[in-house]
Amino acid sequence: MTIPMNDRAAWVKGGLAQCSHPPVPVRGPRRLILLGAPGAGKGTQAEMLSRGGGGCQLSTGDIFRASKSLVTADQSPAVRGALEAMARGDLVSDETVLEMVRERMRCLRCNGGILLDGFPRTVAQAAALGQLLEEENIKLDAVLSYEMPLEIIVDRLGGRRTCESCKAVFHVETKPPLVAGVCDRCGGNLRQRQDDAPEAVSIRMAAYKESTAPLAEFYEMQGLLLSISAVGTPEEVYQRTLDALDRHLAEGPAHSEAVPD
Ligand code: AMP
Repeated sequence: MTIPMNDRAAWVKGGLAQCSHPPVPVRGPRRLILLGAPGAGKGTQAEMLSRGGGGCQLSTGDIFRASKSLVTADQSPAVRGALEAMARGDLVSDETVLEMVRERMRCLRCNGGILLDGFPRTVAQAAALGQLLEEENIKLDAVLSYEMPLEIIVDRLGGRRTCESCKAVFHVETKPPLVAGVCDRCGGNLRQRQDDAPEAVSIRMAAYKESTAPLAEFYEMQGLLLSISAVGTPEEVYQRTLDALDRHLAEGPAHSEAVPD
């Protein structure tokens, strides 16, 4: 069954924003974290998982990108600092990221399920997330770690194009849009993200190795980590993901119950 993509307004805009199509759980609520180097395709997998099995793609990068469109006077000093870090390819401070996530607790509680994409990015963020979820009695089902050799990643990031409006992701060679520069889904303009420029990519890869790679060990110790090869077409990687999830859930580890929104 295919479900409509929701607009994720509650997550992207924060505050009192309401989602136009709140996610409907198809196979019971799923609460997953997606890990992987920038360009490994975790955003695409989050989108496919969201369409195929419910759950909302919650990307902290999308929150920061959305705040770029605010006029400067409406950007808090923390948001301005975050946007500067992001443009350089550096990680935003844990404090700012956690403040954004805490403001959006209702999204983590959503009984349609959650697919955390790009958060947590450091062990400190993961520990803080663990505490937030525990306070709400929410259990994670699994952490998907997408593995890909560095040279393929660098190639991918250079050709990536993202829709300014709906955030759909394309690639000039491997997933070109039907019309160059135009989003197939909503007709929006496709652009190269500022942080996909070559100088920013090398900083992002260094940040990933130093801060994000240790997360795999953190979740391995909790019996939640599923390593998945991200090499191949999005459909092949998606099938691997479903197989790994089925095996993991059949083994009966962390079980999550629906919680009221
Ligand atoms: P992404 O779209 O997930 O690749 O994120 C784009 C950029 O946003 C990253 O390069 C960081 O500058 C920033 N960012 C997003 N999520 C986080 C996070 N959880 N921790 C720190 N920085 C983040």
